[in-house]
Amino acid sequence: MISFLDIKKINNQYEEELKQAAARVIDSGWYISGEEVEAFEQEFAAYCGTKHCIGVSNGLDALKLILQAYEIGEGDEVIVPSNTYIASILAISQVGATPILVEPSLETCNINPMLIEEKISPNTKAILVVHLYGRVVEMSHVLELATKYNLKVIEDAAQAHGAKYNEKRVGNLGDAAGFSFYPGKNLGALGDAGAITTNDDALAETLRAYRNYGSHKKYENIYKGFNHRLDEMQAAFLRVKLPNLEQENIMRRHLAEMYLEYIKNPLIKLPSIPQHKAECVWHVFTVRVENRGKFQQFLSDKGIQTIIHYPIPPHQQVAYSEWNKLSYPKSEQIHSEIISLPISPVQSEEEMWKVIKIVNSYEG
Ligand SMILES: *Cc1c(COP(=O)(O)O)cnc(C)c1O
Repeated sequence: MISFLDIKKINNQYEEELKQAAARVIDSGWYISGEEVEAFEQEFAAYCGTKHCIGVSNGLDALKLILQAYEIGEGDEVIVPSNTYIASILAISQVGATPILVEPSLETCNINPMLIEEKISPNTKAILVVHLYGRVVEMSHVLELATKYNLKVIEDAAQAHGAKYNEKRVGNLGDAAGFSFYPGKNLGALGDAGAITTNDDALAETLRAYRNYGSHKKYENIYKGFNHRLDEMQAAFLRVKLPNLEQENIMRRHLAEMYLEYIKNPLIKLPSIPQHKAECVWHVFTVRVENRGKFQQFLSDKGIQTIIHYPIPPHQQVAYSEWNKLSYPKSEQIHSEIISLPISPVQSEEEMWKVIKIVNSYEG
């Protein structure tokens, strides 16, 4: 079986260093908010090109904390793509604000920037862009609208560590960005972890308190804060993996380029490469197929594991029953046709050719 993403094999590449990192934390006797978290924050900020990185518990908390620190809540609206992973939308709901769904374009599967302006109201406070599947959003129009209407631009960068837009890395394209280091992400921890990047000094200061009970100084609380800290052990693991992120992204890009060049089957619609100046990191490689169930079964019978990102659009989830009767046709089409091929940085050339050959042999 060619697995979709072999996380064990990815981490096995760094087995010795990961074990040394764990030993270092165990021996230090200091398990929360210590040197590893601080060092990782500096290293990840340097990598993204931002002034600040604030380590947090996971990607959902990262997005939620950004909204809270910008005092976005009850009565406010936040624009978000209708086809994102549910966490982007949950973050908005959790602070009491209203998610305003905007349709993606079929070609990019990212928010269609031309559809944003008509959804802006006097209550709109922010645009939450999602670089879905590791493909970078066309930011120029989003940033223009943000300036025109005085909105915050928040990036959900959970699937796009290291991707670039006009030479700048994701995480450094708006006012603040949320990252997830869930084990399957391009930069994955060995448990839950996340981070926020920003160039906004005041926001960074607030976030550092918010994640730690609203406190800058022990036992002094200026906010009603949370416990949303990045774990010291996970920070130590992330420091081992960060220097290898670039190489792993290069490998993903290589696989994507080969798929784009050699998959030639009229039944399979390949993803389009962004027209703007971007460098994608291919968190997943999605193709669109009309009779998806049949295609997935065909690949499975031939020993190729695939995953659906995602089977149910947010507006049809039970949790959002208030939206169940609404129609977002582009999003619905994407959710019904999309399927992700194996794209693991440890995938061999032989496995890659096997995927290409089998996909090309599919006859519907
Ligand atoms: C994974 C993911 C998140 C949430 O990250 P967690 O660390 O799992 O909370 C948010 N947004 C997107 C687009 C994601 O893929």
